[in-house]
Amino acid sequence: MKYAKVIVDISHEKLDRAFEYSVPDELTDKVRPGVMVEASFGKGNRKIKGYVIDITETPSFDPGKIKPLLGVCEGSVEIESELIRLASWMHRNYGGTIIKALKTVIPVKKTAKPKEKKTVSLLLDADDAMTALALFERKNNKARARLLGALIKEPKIPYEVVTDKLNVSSSVMKALSSLGMIEIISGRVMRNPVNAPSAARKNITLNEEQRKAADRVISDMENGKHETYLLRGVTGSGKTEVYIELIDYVVSKGKKAIVLIPEIALTYQTVMRFYNRFGERVSILNSRMSQGERYDQYERAKSGDIDVIIGPRSALFAPFEKLGIIIIDEEHETSYQSENVPRYHARETAVARARIAGASVVLGSATPSLDSYYRAKEGIYNLLELKERAGNSKLAQTEIVDLREELKSGNKSVFSRRLQAEIKRALEKEEQVMLFLNRRGMAGFVSCRSCGHVVKCPHCDVSLSYHRGGILKCHYCGYEEPMINECPKCGSRAIGSFKAGTQKIEEAVNRMFPKAKTLRMDYDTTREKDSYENILSAFANQEADILIGTQMIVKGHDFPNVTLVGILAADMSLFVPDFRAKERTFQLITQAAGRAGRGDKKGRVILQTYHPEDYAVTLSAAQDYEGFYEEEIGYRKILKYPPVWNMLKILFSSPSKKDADEASMKVFAHIKGIIKDAKNISVIGPSDDSVSKVNDIYKRLVYIKADDIRMLVRIKDEVERISENADINIQFQFN
Ligand code: ADP
Ligand code: ZN
Ligand code: ZN
Repeated sequence: MKYAKVIVDISHEKLDRAFEYSVPDELTDKVRPGVMVEASFGKGNRKIKGYVIDITETPSFDPGKIKPLLGVCEGSVEIESELIRLASWMHRNYGGTIIKALKTVIPVKKTAKPKEKKTVSLLLDADDAMTALALFERKNNKARARLLGALIKEPKIPYEVVTDKLNVSSSVMKALSSLGMIEIISGRVMRNPVNAPSAARKNITLNEEQRKAADRVISDMENGKHETYLLRGVTGSGKTEVYIELIDYVVSKGKKAIVLIPEIALTYQTVMRFYNRFGERVSILNSRMSQGERYDQYERAKSGDIDVIIGPRSALFAPFEKLGIIIIDEEHETSYQSENVPRYHARETAVARARIAGASVVLGSATPSLDSYYRAKEGIYNLLELKERAGNSKLAQTEIVDLREELKSGNKSVFSRRLQAEIKRALEKEEQVMLFLNRRGMAGFVSCRSCGHVVKCPHCDVSLSYHRGGILKCHYCGYEEPMINECPKCGSRAIGSFKAGTQKIEEAVNRMFPKAKTLRMDYDTTREKDSYENILSAFANQEADILIGTQMIVKGHDFPNVTLVGILAADMSLFVPDFRAKERTFQLITQAAGRAGRGDKKGRVILQTYHPEDYAVTLSAAQDYEGFYEEEIGYRKILKYPPVWNMLKILFSSPSKKDADEASMKVFAHIKGIIKDAKNISVIGPSDDSVSKVNDIYKRLVYIKADDIRMLVRIKDEVERISENADINIQFQFN
């Protein structure tokens, strides 16, 4: 008799273990790991579905009490046994439950819903809508007002945008719909997300550096060596062409490729480069797709219908049977770190999947994460380099401007005199300009000049941001309130938003250069589906002279007519409470500077800062990655931060501050006890998270640093064990 270990698919119950079922004779041929089966569960013998993760011949308890499987679900997506092994690896290394790990590797398991897409549409004319809006505002019906306000600006909004981005519930929509104010329309939608005419492909021959990098990986693959490579190539050096070459090789061998790119860079432009080479055999995944659309892409991957899948983090779990290569572009991006349990990092998980599948991994970046570069130096990864830009363009020259000097000489504008002069010059030559506002860690908050009070969200411990039209908003939970004109603490009227946001910059540009056409890209202008791409393509088509934006604009776009990049406050991110603050600042500046001079014309970068002597500023201005690495790794060594040591972050969250405090204290004391005599390990905390309260949930942190990662995994297991029955949420994140 055979027995199947089954993880039951019941999401709401805490059933974090495999259940055993006997396999009836007639099913023995069909039941294997990864297959979806039906079984009866619990006392009521409820019929449930589940995944077989293992087959054994020895049951772990009384065979008389083991129920038989009822059947195999025909036509369901079978999880690759490789993915089951990966889930188990993730479970072991990142904690959380087995079900959660399994669900992470099978993001789509439900059958496709009808192919429909819902849109919310305004039925009132402008006057009536304004009247209704005023009424809702007076009655303090915030959600209704938010929806109506948004529909006044944009009369048709996708349903998911209303629920996810505007935070308006379906019951609010129902209410407005029964009042005859809005309508919810369902319509069909194309399932193949890549449905664009194939543009003629430029015929590109790899240059010498590119050829060398590609050949190294290919010859290793030919020799059956599957390793991890770090491709460090300056911005514009043609990394994407190397990826395409490698995928071409892999596909010619009948194998498949996964390409991870940050969601924000998953633009039409990028997708088309792959589409032009691999045509219909490429597909994409993104977070805006419906369940059904995602399901279709997994089905296509599973059935061998496609060779290449491009997408963010979760595309890593595409169910390819013969995986040949995983490519992670912009590997330093923070979006590769999952924020859900299991809190996996796509880079490590890719290496794990590739090891299971016998595939290669290529990590690409102009500014590799210190973690990866350190591994390359240690010989764990193979380093490949592209030092020159492809084609004729040269790296732009960067000039540092000290903002303190500007103020001293009486210039109170957000633009230094140098930047003003350069914008003027570029406009005269009909070249384009990008202005980058580094807002990481600092939004356009409202503070009092007399007493320093900062207006914060009552639900989250973060400052509210000022928006046009006199509204203060919370970017974490969507809370909003009207702008105040008196300080609630000291009564002073000197209160306002003094940090320039992108809107203010745009207004200033419009005043200073009234003839220039501007586009703005930030959180506000990119809420709607496709708005991000629409702005980029308008700029690429030279419909505007100046693009103003946050970090969103620095990600890998290629605008040949941009000759000037202005970095307005380069150092804002230097003071975020995070040991990677300098690394992030260096990456942002280097990437932003990389946008200039991508065509035949020479590029220039003006970098404005209050800290012109900081090494993250000087070395990014010099595009000196190596120099930065040396400085920064020295600091990490002294302070024993990753990548030199490993770090485990334990996050406690609870609606009760007392519970969060007590649980974190208890765990802290317990760990102290365990590591008492151990060397090369230390525990820090408990402390507040950088945002200590979100949506009324309190967050506390404990950090443990150790030179041996296995120590940390053991501590994680131990903390999971002692807090098994605690009713507080505990999550783990490595490094
Ligand atoms: P990266 O990904 O390193 O930033 P890209 O792959 O986007 O660089 O390449 C930058 C530009 O150079 C693109 O317009 C690309 O078409 C072009 N390019 C890349 N490799 C070559 C080559 N071997 N010959 C000519 N042009 C190239
Ligand atoms: Zn005040
Ligand atoms: Zn909030």
